[in-house]
Amino acid sequence: TYPIDVERIREDFPILDRKVGGDVSTAGEGSEDTEPLVYLDNGATSQTPKQVVDSIVDYYYGYNANVHRGIHQLSQEASVAYEEAHDRVAEFINANGREEIVFTKNTTEAMNLVAYAWGLAELGPGDSVVTTQMEHHASLVTWQQICKRTGAEIRFIEVDEEGRLDMDHAAELIDDSTEMVSLVHVSNTLGTVNPVAEITEMAHEVGAYSFVDGAQAVPTRPVDVEAIDADFYAFSGHKMLGPTGIGVLYGKEEILESMQPYLYGGDMIRKVTYEESTWEDLPWKFEAGTPSIAQAIALHAAIDYLEEIGMENVQAHEEMLAEYAYDRLTEYDDVTIYGPPGDDRGGLVAFNVDGVHAHDLSSILNDYAVAIRAGDHCTQPLHDTLGTAASARASFYIYNTREEIDKLVDAVDSARELFA
Ligand code: PMP
Repeated sequence: TYPIDVERIREDFPILDRKVGGDVSTAGEGSEDTEPLVYLDNGATSQTPKQVVDSIVDYYYGYNANVHRGIHQLSQEASVAYEEAHDRVAEFINANGREEIVFTKNTTEAMNLVAYAWGLAELGPGDSVVTTQMEHHASLVTWQQICKRTGAEIRFIEVDEEGRLDMDHAAELIDDSTEMVSLVHVSNTLGTVNPVAEITEMAHEVGAYSFVDGAQAVPTRPVDVEAIDADFYAFSGHKMLGPTGIGVLYGKEEILESMQPYLYGGDMIRKVTYEESTWEDLPWKFEAGTPSIAQAIALHAAIDYLEEIGMENVQAHEEMLAEYAYDRLTEYDDVTIYGPPGDDRGGLVAFNVDGVHAHDLSSILNDYAVAIRAGDHCTQPLHDTLGTAASARASFYIYNTREEIDKLVDAVDSARELFA
């Protein structure tokens, strides 16, 4: 039995009925699409239920119009729906209101918004930004480059043998020079769930801000930004049943208020003359130009869908699958799994099989109709630290089952034998 009704849920995802070219006997020779898809690449992007697609269709067929412009009825309907999407997100992560919810393209853009609008203005020589060895490139590269431009120092909290942050090292690195502590909530490679509230408190003690990358956390567990007390928090719609093209930057109102805009243009201004301009209220100040309207409305629908299931239940399902996959893969001595033990991780497992390159492994898994990710998962420095160039990663979501993990493990077993 599962914490959620997986069979019912699967009916909402037409793509899960798809067959792919997983005929092992004719692998690589243009085989027919005969095998049921096993989709275990949810860390990269999740699938989209009918309810979310319907919300996009309803918008384009029913009230497609630009927002905040024109007083015709369609524009008003679109504007209300777009604004309500901000309110829904605020409620979902326990922010104070729409002022604190800025829509971006994705997590990456949210990160860059803060790095450019806050970092370029506030950082300089003598300052430090503390981050971790397990950051996604979205965060690592962004802070690395902003530190180069401003002369600030970037510091990395080390990851221990079990794939957890070394908290003593964190305490050493976060000091009076620190202006920003930026860390990932759930690692997309290790599956580690980081103590983000504790580290935020350490940041606040030295007068620094915290930025939490919630790309893998918000889709998979209840997240309360007030409880974490994060100053900034970011995530992407496409990893939580929503469409691509919509992401969220949460920021505390007084901090967003104090920041200059990141992009200039229409919709973000109040008054413009040839000489001067003044800015719109939050969050519009940070949403220049025509936004992703349909995508924001669809994100609202995705949140409704997830909350109908209940985020506690989503988390329980994720953790159960991760533990099952971890336990099954540990049956093999020549499989290395990265990150914390199976009973203490987010819903993904990255691993390597001795003597089999992760790319070969994923291509053999593809012959078995099992979709996983192979590569560095946008954490190249972490892979260097782990002593490998690449790994295979299976990541789970609400529609995945134990049987699918069995298929994964059987396919991994075949790959081992093939390369033995
Ligand atoms: N951070 C983490 C932890 C991620 O897993 C991802 C997506 N792989 C990102 C940031 C970037 O998300 P996006 O590509 O949607 O900007």
